Amino acid sequence: MRYFSFFLIVLSSVSCMKGKSVDLVIHNAKIHTMDDKNSVAQAIAIRDGKVIEVGPDRQIMNKYSADEYMDAEGKDIFPGFADAHGHMMSLARQKLSVNLVGAASMEELIVRVEKYSQRKERSVIVGGGWDQSLWNVKELPTNELLNEKFPDKPVVLYRIDGHAVLVNEAALKKFGINESSRIDGGAILKREDGSLNGILLDNAISLISNQLPDFSDRELTGALLEIQQELFGYGITDVHEAGLTPHDFKLIRRLVKENKLTIGIYGMLYPEKENADFAKKHGFLKEKNLLVRSFKVMGDGALGSRGALLKQAYSDDLHNHGLLTTSISDMQRYSSLAELTGYQLNIHAIGDSTNRLVLELIKAYSAKNPDHRWRLEHAQVIDPKDFDLLAVSGAFPSVQPTHAVSDQRWAESRLGKARLKGAYAYNTLLQKAGMLAIGTDFPVESTNPFLTIHAAVNRKNAENDPIDGFLMSEALTEEACLRGMTIWAAFASFQEGTKGSLEKGKDATLVILENPFSSKGSYNPNFSKITFIRGKKVFSME
Ligand SMILES: [Zn+2]
Repeated sequence: MRYFSFFLIVLSSVSCMKGKSVDLVIHNAKIHTMDDKNSVAQAIAIRDGKVIEVGPDRQIMNKYSADEYMDAEGKDIFPGFADAHGHMMSLARQKLSVNLVGAASMEELIVRVEKYSQRKERSVIVGGGWDQSLWNVKELPTNELLNEKFPDKPVVLYRIDGHAVLVNEAALKKFGINESSRIDGGAILKREDGSLNGILLDNAISLISNQLPDFSDRELTGALLEIQQELFGYGITDVHEAGLTPHDFKLIRRLVKENKLTIGIYGMLYPEKENADFAKKHGFLKEKNLLVRSFKVMGDGALGSRGALLKQAYSDDLHNHGLLTTSISDMQRYSSLAELTGYQLNIHAIGDSTNRLVLELIKAYSAKNPDHRWRLEHAQVIDPKDFDLLAVSGAFPSVQPTHAVSDQRWAESRLGKARLKGAYAYNTLLQKAGMLAIGTDFPVESTNPFLTIHAAVNRKNAENDPIDGFLMSEALTEEACLRGMTIWAAFASFQEGTKGSLEKGKDATLVILENPFSSKGSYNPNFSKITFIRGKKVFSME
């Protein structure tokens, strides 16, 4: 027995002298490991998709013999970025619809719809991405021009945040919406004479969206694969998909099974009956790169369309407080469902009233399970009096810094100066909660993570507006922002054991950036040179 163990020791030390064999060594790099000490290393050894060791060049090169060596030429390496709140399915549908992003006027919107309708034969024309705050007239549009140009063909056009649609008369008729239609948690806007003006808000959108002909799974798949490439091209290796219907859940699951979607997906299920039944029957789902163990609930609407529920009325619409899109009793029901299934509950909360309500709900649950990690999605406007509820409840804020710099054009008119104190308050949220999950909410914003970093650190958009930064006291440090896109995002999705930092034993999922990384000064565009997921190249510029 003693002889045998001696023999083993000799054997292993001999193999050590020859150099342990690994699949890949990347050296001459600036590796931002995102470990606890925020260490930066020069080289990394990878075997079977895992990190074997990170360290100085000489140490790694001496210790390991690799099948492949890669000289990173001094470039920056990060753990693959996560987008902690995105919508691949919505972006896919947007890509297949009329693209209205950046349309500068109602007239341009009409031209884009006309061009699309000449190219594609659809029973209903669907478009998305308009934003009236970019137009000369900044009020929500009405449908007169759309009725004139499209008297017979139903047209349904989503606002960029998905919380408002503009539809023509033909669509209202087709989907049976008239002056007497009503729905909880939604609004159907009218002209002064009482006729419908074509704008539907929040839950009222479901009067149409539930009946819209969807794109085929083949079309959606094609668009999803394009999106995956776009994400890999930015070094994004994980998306927290913020809301899956039963159909979309099945499609994503199939594409993962078929090895078509290889990007990490943390799927949040909408708590519809079929999804709820799935969770009750099967519990958590971990299949390859797909993890499902959370529900997404829509607490309220959005600020841009004045659908977010505020404690006091909107400063630019004194009769309007916004609305709750899920009733309090339903929220409690979903909370019980999450408790029963062990699923995490991730609740969209924009207005200060909704944030308060959701924080109270999470606080009640935290007594039963302190490590719940239930998420406050957006956490956009919080009454400063309620900030302390973050620490008490253990709520995990999930924020999108590009929203701050997109909304800064009109945030003050919606909220007034005083209420801006608790708005887009990422630094305060971080101080109270200890961690943030950071994302973009694409397709509301671009998928580009470097715009997120610029927005978080400098509080400016791609055009470097506003010049002094928007509410600079709420800026994040570069390190905090990067943590929010890596290790804290992993934590927010219960994956910190395998993802989010480059440390021994974790997944070798990383990005080598093309340009030197910097968050200082004006916007620094960047992208991936090579992206790896578990040691495999999934994207390369060459
Ligand atoms: Zn979202």
